[in-house]
Amino acid sequence: MMKEYIDEAEKALLHTYNRYQVVLEKGDGVYLYDMEGKRYLDFVSGIAVFALGYNNKAYNDALKAQIDKLIHTSNYYYNLPAIEAARKIKKVSGMDRVFFTNSGAEAVEGAIKAARKYAWLKDGRTDHEIIAMEHSFHGRTMGALSVTGNPKYREAFEPMIGNIRFARMNDFDSVTAQVTDRTCAIILETVQGEGGIYPAEEEFLQKLRALCDQRDILLILDEIQCGMGRTGFMYAWQRYGVKPDIMTTAKALGCGVPVGAFLMTERVARNSLAAGDHGTTYGGNPLAAAAICKVLELFEEQKVLENVREVGPYLSKKLEELACRHHCVETHRGVGLMQGLVFRKPVAEIINRALEKGLILINAGSHIIRFVPALVIGRAEVDAMIEILDSCIED
Ligand SMILES: *Cc1c(COP(=O)(O)O)cnc(C)c1O
Repeated sequence: MMKEYIDEAEKALLHTYNRYQVVLEKGDGVYLYDMEGKRYLDFVSGIAVFALGYNNKAYNDALKAQIDKLIHTSNYYYNLPAIEAARKIKKVSGMDRVFFTNSGAEAVEGAIKAARKYAWLKDGRTDHEIIAMEHSFHGRTMGALSVTGNPKYREAFEPMIGNIRFARMNDFDSVTAQVTDRTCAIILETVQGEGGIYPAEEEFLQKLRALCDQRDILLILDEIQCGMGRTGFMYAWQRYGVKPDIMTTAKALGCGVPVGAFLMTERVARNSLAAGDHGTTYGGNPLAAAAICKVLELFEEQKVLENVREVGPYLSKKLEELACRHHCVETHRGVGLMQGLVFRKPVAEIINRALEKGLILINAGSHIIRFVPALVIGRAEVDAMIEILDSCIED
């Protein structure tokens, strides 16, 4: 039965993904069910999206109530959920102004436009440069792709937007080597996700901040994957106290309703995008904004950050032990509930076997298994995951 649907999908959907051979139908907590009723323990959460777990009643009820009131208005009018969402996200991020988007990539696009406008207002030049990191991932649209440090993703779509230079994460000298009098922004993920779970080092971030302050360059932190509590802090930069000028967020922000945002300080807001410079039909519409409001409310009520701070180190310890048990595991790294297990061989086979055994895992690059579960996951589920993964590696 499932096979027929998969065949149909393969004839109709554009083949831009090599999908796992399963049709998922419903979710509950940290479990997913396929259309044949088989249960899976989920350590992916829709790629760091469903932070609160599936079928969260309070969240579902809030969305249903908003659907019955108003789903969309366009951004030419004010609406209450967007005002409340803006208030709440300002509070948890410490940033001053927000623009809501429909996705992470669009948040990155907005950040790039804001940085270019900021620089243009200063000197009127149109040859400003942006420094991005190797192995970074910022999204698939042309601007976001241009700052994505993976040539494989970019190659067929050249030319990218111009004047992007790449430096190495946690190598400050490689950044200064790329700085010119035209540099308008430095963009990086506070913890690289797709590129293999590489956290930025504190000293590196501090030096970037100082460099940016000195030369009036804007520091853009992409918190789309590592933000929203995943590292045990609402935004990963808060752990280091290195505040960006512009920040992007998405993924868990709406917990499944497609929404993202870019935020900035008042200083950048006053000196960058103005009326007519940027827009979106859907961005921050009442339904999406209601999702943000409820998510941020539930993060507090359900003490999500506390849970990450407790279960994150436990997951880390368990993965470390697992790494010691198996020679094929090279190392382990990560922070909070954003962890990676680095193998000496490709991990596709292990992930497929785990799926057969009722465990959903995902890679980050060919040799790394990435762990980005719901932020409400408990120790018992970590134990259950480790047991299955152990046996998959044995096989
Ligand atoms: C997922 C991701 C994006 C892109 O977000 P989309 O919603 O897929 O467009 C950008 N940056 C980072 C760090 C991401 O993890």
